[in-house]
Amino acid sequence: MHSVKEAETTILNLISPLDKSQDSESIPLEAAAGKILAQTLISPLDFPHWNNSAMDGYAVRYGDVQECPTSLEIIEEIPAGFNPKKTVQTGQAARIFTGAILPQGADTIVIQENTERQGDRVVILQPPQPQDFVRHRGSFHQAGTPLLQGGIQLGAPEVAILAAAQQTQLQVYRRPTVALLSTGDELVAPDRALEPGQIVDSNQYALAAFVAQNGGIPVPLGIVEDCRDRLKAAIERAVATCDVVLSTGGVSVGDRDYIQTLLDELGAEMHIRSVAVKPGKPLTVATFNRNERICPYFGLPGNPVSALVSCWRFVQPALQKLSGLAPPWGCEFVKARSRSRLKGTKTRETYLWGQLHNIEGTYEFSLAGGSHSSGNLINLAQTNGLAVVPPGETHLDAGSDLRVLFVNRKL
Ligand code: AMP
Ligand code: MG
Repeated sequence: MHSVKEAETTILNLISPLDKSQDSESIPLEAAAGKILAQTLISPLDFPHWNNSAMDGYAVRYGDVQECPTSLEIIEEIPAGFNPKKTVQTGQAARIFTGAILPQGADTIVIQENTERQGDRVVILQPPQPQDFVRHRGSFHQAGTPLLQGGIQLGAPEVAILAAAQQTQLQVYRRPTVALLSTGDELVAPDRALEPGQIVDSNQYALAAFVAQNGGIPVPLGIVEDCRDRLKAAIERAVATCDVVLSTGGVSVGDRDYIQTLLDELGAEMHIRSVAVKPGKPLTVATFNRNERICPYFGLPGNPVSALVSCWRFVQPALQKLSGLAPPWGCEFVKARSRSRLKGTKTRETYLWGQLHNIEGTYEFSLAGGSHSSGNLINLAQTNGLAVVPPGETHLDAGSDLRVLFVNRKL
């Protein structure tokens, strides 16, 4: 049995990121939000593009204004977007506005508040510092140097930078496809009447949402009964068509739990058969060699909470690495104070679901009320944290500090 940490490392080592050339696509800038950049972008432009003013005021020669008050002739008005025509000579100034090009001859801006206008002249009341309020060409970024690195996820700031650098088409990684298989004789689709003993296949929907939230494309392949032949065919199809396979159910020790045997029979390389974690102990991880590519297979336990906890703890870092994101890959933990007493187990790392609250900069964790059975999905609603109780700690008192895994970040 693997420890949680060993399982995480083993999984990350199995994953090869999507290929920069084969697995990327060109998209318009409008579609960039959330995508992962597959190229390092070199800026063709200096930022700022020209010397310009950071304030409304007057462009002057510093040598003219060291002694104040002093009166200068205004030779030109330069609004933003205007290309100055004249050169500021000794004894002259140009009226200038924020963002406008600094005229030839001038090297300093005097802010409007420190001046007094007198017809076509301006009196400088207070001496500025040399080069005050001049934004120099290339001082933010120089043309020809990398503007954005490959492997970053594009959000509002990066999209703004790309637009400013006139990058209207970009190369981004395609989203990885994730096959979803639900296994179990008792499962039915949510729109079917329930016969005694049946339950709805909620995992298919939960995992589709999880995959979408983590940048993948869910490929729901439906419910497969606990039948060796059907399962075998479904696994083969999933492996042949998608980058990753997630199945739920059929990995425990029951007579009808066929997944591990079938993975062996299908020639998969088995890496993990169980993990010292609660919930989620029977986590199974294998890989298929598929046309020079490795297809990772995650056999998740069927219980709805076990399936999601396994996704949050183990599948999420794998999807990050697969998707082309630059390292580090892994889960995000925060330190929090528990509001409740938490129960752990002797031999397994326990994950308890609940809510993280940020109280004036300090995290507090409140345990979800109700049953913490791995079959109870009802009290998972609004979960944003999984409290970690280390193996061997049979309980943590209320008020203890502990690690909490951030989960279920909104889209
Ligand atoms: P298993 O891992 O196949 O032994 O299933 C463990 C428990 O999870 C059983 O109570 C199943 O009915 C339940 N379960 C399995 N698959 C699903 C699913 N797709 N959606 C909801 N519950 C499931
Ligand atoms: Mg089952």
